[in-house]
Amino acid sequence: MSRILHRHTKIQYPCAVRGEGVYLFDENGKDYLDASGGAAVSCLGHGHKKVIAAIKDQLDNLAYAHSGFFTNSASEALAELLIEKAPGDLARVYFVSGGSEANETALKLARQYFVEIGEPKRHRFIARQQSYHGNTLGALSVGGNLGRRELFGPILLETSHVSPCFYLRYHQEGESESDFGQRVANELEAEILRLGPESVAAFIAEPVVGATLGAVPPVAGYLKRIREICDRYGVLLIFDEVMCGMGRTGTRYACEQEDVVPDILTCAKGLGAGYQPVGAVLLAQKIYDAIEAGSGFFQHGFTYIGHATACRAGLAVQETIEQEGLLGQVQARATTLQAMLEEALGQHPHVGDLRGRGLFRGIELVKDRESLEPFDPALKLPARLRQAAMDNGLVCYPGGGTVDGRRGDHILLAPPFIISEDELGILVERLCTAIDTTLAAN
Ligand code: PLP
Repeated sequence: MSRILHRHTKIQYPCAVRGEGVYLFDENGKDYLDASGGAAVSCLGHGHKKVIAAIKDQLDNLAYAHSGFFTNSASEALAELLIEKAPGDLARVYFVSGGSEANETALKLARQYFVEIGEPKRHRFIARQQSYHGNTLGALSVGGNLGRRELFGPILLETSHVSPCFYLRYHQEGESESDFGQRVANELEAEILRLGPESVAAFIAEPVVGATLGAVPPVAGYLKRIREICDRYGVLLIFDEVMCGMGRTGTRYACEQEDVVPDILTCAKGLGAGYQPVGAVLLAQKIYDAIEAGSGFFQHGFTYIGHATACRAGLAVQETIEQEGLLGQVQARATTLQAMLEEALGQHPHVGDLRGRGLFRGIELVKDRESLEPFDPALKLPARLRQAAMDNGLVCYPGGGTVDGRRGDHILLAPPFIISEDELGILVERLCTAIDTTLAAN
């Protein structure tokens, strides 16, 4: 009997005992190809010797020293690395332990910024439907994932949610991608005006939407229009790159490919690649300056901010990605993976879309590929797919509610950047078997 409150009380979880490359192994020696890096975490795969050696070295010298008393060389070096190639005037970093903490921090930073600069009425946040920003109450409040929010509705902060930039499901008949992008971006302006610009602090969005929609990149021009609107009304723009950042889409920051710079950018997951829990908030110089010229103190903090061992892991991971040219490999493997998926699933009667950017790919499952009618949510496809994949030696990340928070199903793939072409072949083969076994049982 386990003493743990596991995620699901009725699932028997195999015990993972070892990881090597793209594979995880359970206590019975069964292998699982990690096609989603857990939840887009393990970008260097498992058992990476260089990262492990760096962590051991850090532990031998300094595991942890509280940031209220000390800084440490690991966090300083990681901040330097993150800022060195950060877009625009992102100039400072605040280290946390994960994605929810990063977004919680971003929201509070935005709020304090406006108090510091003498605009204390700005306290509202605008976000998008069909988004996910984390499970702590602030992050959950701005998130637009209905399934995750529902139970906690009464204790969440009031937040506005505008339409997602999801052309496949939200465009009007005959509307071009570009017109669609401008129309849904303009919903932000309408909402700012409805609330009163003087009350709005920030807009938060995932540049490429991860778990809720299944790897949906924005249409061209959408984020540029969002930036313009934020600038016009003095609203801060926060990009949540917790899932899509740190090289997952082929560039360190996903927003680089849109040529749009946020005021605050959050990352986690691939930052430490699962070797340590670590997240980061990058902030523009003007936000730092406002705090420095004002109270000189960010009214926030956690016990583990700037954790030396966590930051050393992040540093080793990011240095490895850079030194081994893995961003280039993401692009190359992404092209191969997409071609393999097209070949295997492109004509599948229940595949409605194959999408994504870099090694961040989504497969949308539908009842009917012509009309894109989704399956009945009562079929609980995501849970069954997850299990069928595990039975077949594959970790992937299925999700439901893709269309409107209730209907729709997708599978998210986020394999390690180090995956070989042969391993991609095994991934696609195991995935197709899992899909067909699950759908055959309907
Ligand atoms: N933001 C995004 C885009 C995410 O995908 C996630 C997790 O999946 C989070 C935030 C929350 O991160 P964490 O689970 O590390 O708290």
